[in-house]
Amino acid sequence: MPVDPSLPPWLRRFAPLPASAFDDFEAYARHITGWTGVLACGGGALLVLLWWPSDGLLPVDAAVRAALRRWRLWMVGLGCLGAVLTWAQWRRQRDTALVQGAFYGAAIVASFSTFSSVGGPGTPWPYAGPLVPLATLLLLVPLRRRIALALSAWVLVELSYYGPNPDWMDDPYALNAAILTLTAAGFSVVVGHLLYVLSRRNFTQQQALTRLASIDGLTGALNRRAFLARCREELHRAGRNRRPLCLVMLDLDHFKRINDTRGHAVGDLVLREAAARLRQRMRESDVLGRLGGEEFAVLLPETGLAEAREVAERLRRVLADSPIRARGVEVAITASFGVAPVDAADDDGVERALQDADTALYRAKEAGRNRVVPHEPPHTLAEE
Ligand code: GH3
Ligand code: MG
Ligand code: MG
Repeated sequence: MPVDPSLPPWLRRFAPLPASAFDDFEAYARHITGWTGVLACGGGALLVLLWWPSDGLLPVDAAVRAALRRWRLWMVGLGCLGAVLTWAQWRRQRDTALVQGAFYGAAIVASFSTFSSVGGPGTPWPYAGPLVPLATLLLLVPLRRRIALALSAWVLVELSYYGPNPDWMDDPYALNAAILTLTAAGFSVVVGHLLYVLSRRNFTQQQALTRLASIDGLTGALNRRAFLARCREELHRAGRNRRPLCLVMLDLDHFKRINDTRGHAVGDLVLREAAARLRQRMRESDVLGRLGGEEFAVLLPETGLAEAREVAERLRRVLADSPIRARGVEVAITASFGVAPVDAADDDGVERALQDADTALYRAKEAGRNRVVPHEPPHTLAEE
């Protein structure tokens, strides 16, 4: 997953990331709501911890209360952390940052209210302190399941504490618990959904922009910059998983003639159809790029050199086997191919492989075009 390089490394894992760092929206939504929930739950968990020694729900003992007051510093710290994360998000997406910031704030204030006021039965807010942040755990699940879970939690609370009492509606504790659980659950449902909707809008916009900036308009292939970026990602993946990776480069033969004899518009259609044919013969995981003019490249993950030669041969045939129909004329085309392995252990592996494939492609042109030539490592040449 590409991560925004402008963030310091320690923040990269924790700060909310921009939509462009994610390939699919669900992962992005989980990230946004997940971190919101985790942070707010930090407050909740801390509070439960603090509440524990007070021997019951109400910290009535003055010494305990004094000890709890010292923990306010932690709440301030938590507030600062929330502020930093909100700020990091603000630089990327203002509207989700606003919701998140308000959410951190509300959760922390709700937690803090437990310290500053000692509630008795019938005073709901102190109880809401830990409940609201804990309810944010629900942000981690999708909306429908969240509503179901929230309602189940409420029913469970009621049943476990007050089930045996048939007059529970008259019991102020039971009513409190009902109001609180529902408030907390409603809070997480509303905030979670708001975050989801805002993130979805941002994600779609950013993905559309990223797509526009990385796709070649004529052929639908990745443009040179995006293709190289993708190559580098695959290089790292191949390095991590110790899998082979190959690059095929191809250049249409005597394309200038097509332009000169049939016109530029036909040339354009031929390019488009050629790209479509290449795509037909590629696997889902292979990547097609237009490096420039009538020169394309195909990146083949999980593919060794021998197999890559076969793929290139297949691609060569799909172009050469039948002429392309464009504007009522039939245009026969061929292309020359260079194939090179990408050395995943080498940080400059992509650039080197591009050079190697280019050299091989040049040989294919020299040898008469319409053929596939694999890269030959220098030591093989030296041995000859
Ligand atoms: P070779 O077999 O050596 O590759 O010969 P070639 O004619 O294909 O190579 P050359 O590099 O001389 O010409 C490439 C031509 O491709 C020149 C250029 O006008 C044409 N071309 C580049 N981009 C486009 C495009 O987007 N549309 C059209 N119609 N033609 C393009
Ligand atoms: Mg050419
Ligand atoms: Mg060319």
